[in-house]
Amino acid sequence: MKNIAVLGSTGSIGTQTLDVVRANPERLCVKALAAGHNITQLESQIREFHPQIAAVWDEEKAQELRVLTADLQVKIVSGMDGLLEIAQMEGTEVLVTAIVGMIGIRPTIAAIKAGKDIALANKETLVTAGHIIMPLAKEYNVKILPVDSEHSAIFQSLNGEKKTQIDKILLTASGGPFRGWTREQMKDVQVEDALKHPNWSMGAKITIDSSTMVNKGLEVMEAKWLFDVGMDDVQVVVQPKSVIHSMVQFEDGAVMAQLGTPDMKLPIQYALYYPERRPMKGDRLDFWTMKEIVFDKPDYENFRGLALARDAGKAGGSVPVVFNAANEFAVAKFLAKKIRYLEITDMIEAAMEHHKKIAHPSLDEVLEAEAETYEFLKKQWGFVTIQ
Ligand code: NDP
Repeated sequence: MKNIAVLGSTGSIGTQTLDVVRANPERLCVKALAAGHNITQLESQIREFHPQIAAVWDEEKAQELRVLTADLQVKIVSGMDGLLEIAQMEGTEVLVTAIVGMIGIRPTIAAIKAGKDIALANKETLVTAGHIIMPLAKEYNVKILPVDSEHSAIFQSLNGEKKTQIDKILLTASGGPFRGWTREQMKDVQVEDALKHPNWSMGAKITIDSSTMVNKGLEVMEAKWLFDVGMDDVQVVVQPKSVIHSMVQFEDGAVMAQLGTPDMKLPIQYALYYPERRPMKGDRLDFWTMKEIVFDKPDYENFRGLALARDAGKAGGSVPVVFNAANEFAVAKFLAKKIRYLEITDMIEAAMEHHKKIAHPSLDEVLEAEAETYEFLKKQWGFVTIQ
């Protein structure tokens, strides 16, 4: 039996993680759950999975949840202290980081220090603090197991291989709903349009990130940390149907790929059982219906987010923090209909230009760079409302 804790249990990855647990009750057990605000859904998860601890972000919501679950043996905690308590609690082997944004950094560090393996969906943590997380994982001898489908594909393609023999990583991208569009065509994109991903069903923030291709940029940086390669060793390959989840080319020219239907439960299950592969029900690829797999080059000109991510990743230090923080801020504003679509990348670019790079930021400096980016953007854009 493997005991797990799930941060972000009410979200897209979190609920699919619980689907995997539900299908494997004799092998997986949930010891802790954490959510942001959705106490209705969290209450029903608590009633089904009987965790020892559950967390919500606001203390007020935690109070409500304590009343709702008064008949159960569960401790309800709140805020960052609650997330940290769950991250390092005794009796769990794996922390699933399915929370969204840089808020995942501190719990991930706490879990590593407590000797937990990390099933990592929360890419923002690795993008902004990979230089802290990866050496720490090595020091504490814990595994960082990728949940992102592309990184899981790379991880699976590397099974039995030597990382030193990687020639390049071929990171596939669907291109999102606006593939082939110009910036002129994108200028009036509305929230509802950007929330329609062609292949995957995901949380709101990552769906917007996929439409701007900022997500692919974040994934290039994530791959850099996970697989210990340079930014130029990761090549983005557009493959609109998301059949190939990613590939690795080795120094002898061989290319290993992982293919499958777009179902996040596979990479989640793979991370939870690694190195074991377990049966899983679901759709299978039908090559006769598919007939062909089409590829294209990424469009760095119209998808500024991808180009800015490449610049941020190459600059390194605190620059990826600013890239990511500006994007988190801008996407929240876009989802709230306060800014126009193309302003997302305008904001990222402005924040990156304004920032003075710190070469090797400590955790405090990472969090300061995040706060400074928010402050800068609030001053520049805070009072702008959409026309
Ligand atoms: P969702 O928006 O669907 O879910 C986010 C989860 O985090 C929710 O459970 C939310 O709780 C919780 N949360 C938000 N803020 C807090 C907080 N302050 N404290 C505790 N919990 C909080 O996101 P996704 O599941 O789509 O994405 C999660 C992460 O996984 C992201 O980093 C994303 O990039 C990555 N990822 C997602 C994929 C996908 O298919 N969805 C694929 C690959 C990576 P609540 O709703 O209750 O507020």
